[in-house]
Amino acid sequence: MPIRCITFDLDDTLWDCAVVMERAEAGFYAWLSDKLPKVVAGHTPESLIKQRRVYCEHHPELSHDFTRLRKGWLADAAVTHGYAPELVETGFRAFWEMRNDVQLLVGVADMLAELQADFRLGVISNGNADVHHIGIGHHFEFVVHAAAAGALKPDPKIFQHALEAARLSAGEIVHVGDDPVRDVAGAAAMGMHTIWVNHARVDWPGGSLPDAEIHQLSQLKGVLQAW
Ligand SMILES: [Mg+2]
Repeated sequence: MPIRCITFDLDDTLWDCAVVMERAEAGFYAWLSDKLPKVVAGHTPESLIKQRRVYCEHHPELSHDFTRLRKGWLADAAVTHGYAPELVETGFRAFWEMRNDVQLLVGVADMLAELQADFRLGVISNGNADVHHIGIGHHFEFVVHAAAAGALKPDPKIFQHALEAARLSAGEIVHVGDDPVRDVAGAAAMGMHTIWVNHARVDWPGGSLPDAEIHQLSQLKGVLQAW
């Protein structure tokens, strides 16, 4: 069966996520210090993140939705300290803008434009990055977020949403991502083809091998042509 569609993971596949999140968390802490100083009182940026993680652990029903988790935590913190809950949307927006201020890896936009000529392209992401806000949304025919699908990769549910969005069978799709479990094992379990993006050139951690491994996205087209 020929491959008709390529789905991409976003974070750590199309950009380096750690850099973005570090900056976004620092900026969010600065925003909180300015607008809700009582929330950050006695906290370092790190201890505040830890406190938010505890909130997340207490809300496993939202574990697939990082937006609702952060807003929920912020609403709790605001109300606890006597701030207006309306600040939640403003605060989240401030974080979200920084979280989406990503630096695409070299050649990503050109690669997507080139692949778009031969394949239908989609996104399957656990996070809350917005490809339209980032400026690459026009390359994708569909975007599936864990928040909307109700489950995180590698749960079959989120891949099922992508299959429905693509209106293709799994064997006609190749999923491209950096995470051996969430991306490779998750997509393979659905019968999709898989390409592991191993930027750091680490060893394969075990489990069923991906159909191909690449170290940079510029290798993607060659791999697909060779199939
Ligand atoms: Mg990733």
